Amino acid sequence: MNPAILIDGCAIAAIDSTGTEHAEGWILTEGGVIAALGDGAPPPLPEGGRRIDARGHLATPALVNCHHHLFQWATRGLAQESDLFGWLTTLYPLWAGIDGEISHHAARAGLAALALSGCATTTDHHYIFPRGGGDLLEAEIRAAQGLGLRFQPCRGSMDLGRSSGGLPPDEVIEDRDAILIATEEAIDRWHDPAPGAMLRVAVAPCSPFSVTGELMREAAALARRRGVRLHTHLAETVEEEAFCLERFGVRPVEYLDDLDWLAPDVWLAHCVHLSPAEIARFAATGTSVAHCPSSNARLGSGIAPVADLVAAGVAVGLGVDGAASNESGELAVELRQALLVARLRGGPAAMTARTSLALGTIHGARCLGREDEIGSLEPGKRADIALWRIDGAGHAGLADPVAALVLGPPRQVAGLLVDGAPVVERGSLLTADLDEVARDAAAASARLAP
Ligand SMILES: [Zn+2]
Repeated sequence: MNPAILIDGCAIAAIDSTGTEHAEGWILTEGGVIAALGDGAPPPLPEGGRRIDARGHLATPALVNCHHHLFQWATRGLAQESDLFGWLTTLYPLWAGIDGEISHHAARAGLAALALSGCATTTDHHYIFPRGGGDLLEAEIRAAQGLGLRFQPCRGSMDLGRSSGGLPPDEVIEDRDAILIATEEAIDRWHDPAPGAMLRVAVAPCSPFSVTGELMREAAALARRRGVRLHTHLAETVEEEAFCLERFGVRPVEYLDDLDWLAPDVWLAHCVHLSPAEIARFAATGTSVAHCPSSNARLGSGIAPVADLVAAGVAVGLGVDGAASNESGELAVELRQALLVARLRGGPAAMTARTSLALGTIHGARCLGREDEIGSLEPGKRADIALWRIDGAGHAGLADPVAALVLGPPRQVAGLLVDGAPVVERGSLLTADLDEVARDAAAASARLAP
């Protein structure tokens, strides 16, 4: 059990339903949960507890990353000028060589980047399982457990190869029945439905152009039978839209709707190309979105209509997306990116700094169905807390702490608690040796993409 921690003297942005903020306040954590928070004199420190002097910092809910492909850390910086389909067809053959060791070291590097950018909870969409590659899901789960992050691996899959009209080469797809068996085994082995769980599993066939409709339907039935969430890519590019119109005769959103995939237990990555009617359909069905602004910009995919989605009541979490289409893999920068691209699309009123911070926290929690546990600073919620320094030269004179975080100079987290346990302190990662992480990740990349 983690000792009680009193974080004292910091600005606080709670991101709760009433927008609670304190210019100078305190947060008390006990037993992995937030016991109390407020301003004025803090309560006495429980016996055996620790006090963190957080003057000059802003405390926010730790960030929630809603979309990633950790294995891609091993293939960064390639196909730099390609669009999505060209990028994928360049990388698929490399990914066919992934094994457990590469997956583990790539995941450690990606997870370290997330922790150091204020992220306590991350999903990962792993959809490549080469024959003979070992247990790649276990490899990344062990990495997350080692770093101490809350983790939701999504058992991804592809069963529509090039010979059947799909995009991926046949050697990287799996047999549909084998996918469903392996997915259910992953749920049996890893999924923890308990409140406050550190590990949950989701079901995640990859995309309309790499998965058959039959697998989409059966995956949804499996997830609902087992009470786990569903995730996939959707409406990322105009090429995907053309693929769906040609192959299925409908746009991507209607295709998914026909497969019973628009529902409150589903969150969808990207959703760049949506019509107003499709946004309304997301709102009516309770479907959530993972917005990946840097990756969408890196691949030139377009700008998602996030302001319209949020106005319609859709939960829009943030995601870094895979490390091969967002070579930084840091989540905090996406707060700024989301705001900037929303304003490029919709003008200066399209998104506030506080809305952007809400996307990275409570909206992300809603995507994962965990808004009762994480995503805001409220008594009874898990003690997932990020502390950001806002008293350095870079922030001097920037009086609004939330603007300092979202719009100010590059933000690296000063402190990170995950379930009440310190993972980052004074800007240093406590749970891994970064030099070792870098060495192992470089060796994994060299082996996979020499
Ligand atoms: Zn993705």
